[in-house]
Amino acid sequence: MSEQTNTPAQNASLEQAMRDWRHDFHQHPELGFEENRTAAKVAQLLRDFGLEVHEGIGGTGVVGLLKRGTGNRAIGLRADMDALAIAERNSFAHRSQNPGKMHACGHDGHTSMLLGAARNLAETGQFNGTVIFIFQPAEEHGRGALAMIDDGLFDRFPMEAVYALHNLPSLPTGHFAIKSGSVMACEDNFEIIIRGKGTHAALPHLGIDPILIGAEIVTALQSVISRTFNPTENGVLSVTDFATNGLRNVIPDQVILRGDTRSFSPDIQELIERTMQRIAAGICAAHGAEFSFSYSREFVATINSPAETEAALAVAQELAGADKVIEDAKPIMASEDFGHMLQHKPGCYLLLGNGADGPGSVGLHSPDYDFNDELLPVGAAFWSRLVENQLP
Ligand SMILES: [Zn+2]
Ligand SMILES: [Zn+2]
Repeated sequence: MSEQTNTPAQNASLEQAMRDWRHDFHQHPELGFEENRTAAKVAQLLRDFGLEVHEGIGGTGVVGLLKRGTGNRAIGLRADMDALAIAERNSFAHRSQNPGKMHACGHDGHTSMLLGAARNLAETGQFNGTVIFIFQPAEEHGRGALAMIDDGLFDRFPMEAVYALHNLPSLPTGHFAIKSGSVMACEDNFEIIIRGKGTHAALPHLGIDPILIGAEIVTALQSVISRTFNPTENGVLSVTDFATNGLRNVIPDQVILRGDTRSFSPDIQELIERTMQRIAAGICAAHGAEFSFSYSREFVATINSPAETEAALAVAQELAGADKVIEDAKPIMASEDFGHMLQHKPGCYLLLGNGADGPGSVGLHSPDYDFNDELLPVGAAFWSRLVENQLP
């Protein structure tokens, strides 16, 4: 690391550039695998900074390579580019111009701060090796990371570790939260279709009431988390949809229950799936109803490796001061597509505070959310320093 290193925080023109890019991305949100404008702009900027650019990886993914010195070592830094199908309620000048689409998760900011790091490292970076800048599509789908991996991300661009960061409303601006091991849960979805026998509301004895059966199943499913696995494990099971084809005076012949479960390990996923199926089968059999059960794995858990977590922690403490870094942060039951990359490479996913009060505290995926621009120089400095530390 050099005393002369020009950190983005000291570089007003870079900070302004990152704000301009961020506002432009915010105005032009694109959904997963449709990030054509965003990816083209990312690729053009990386080329302008002098990087070797590869486009169309896993659909709309972009990879930029920056090499220095003779070292063979390489690390990957990942940002996500996709927006959400949410109608923005903000009225500021950079609000979404695409109706029904919005950067409500701050991926506009993640992309801009990684671009800022690319420019900063290209201009003044002191490191030896290769930095692989990964701009992935479709994080919100939980499909973009896999698409890039299936398209050869780690074979074409060998790297020893991969890192990502996400903003977090409710954490004070510029504070970091880092944790080794499980940080974000896996997400599974389920659907239970109960087929009873429809009948007149006044003649229930002639039918098999799937609403009664569905209600029993919803209640019994509450025991999956509370009574089938060790209380020291974490898990959530939520029935989020109870759909019937009944009318006011007709008992329906079908109920569909849908929902979502979160946990941190394949064993627990398997246990949840098996127990749910047994409960649904038992209750349906007791009432003489037919049923079908499907269970799909959407996101894997995000699990940080110890050495890379240590490396990220050291940079965060150096930049923000130890009092602004939460070590051993609590895991979050939400899910993150980056978990797929961590199944292939060691690495670390960390959180950066978007603000504990004011606009920055508005939750992710809210129509009132906005990424906090004050984080742009913090994130770019974090990436730059991490590269200089990890590729000495
Ligand atoms: Zn999100
Ligand atoms: Zn996000």
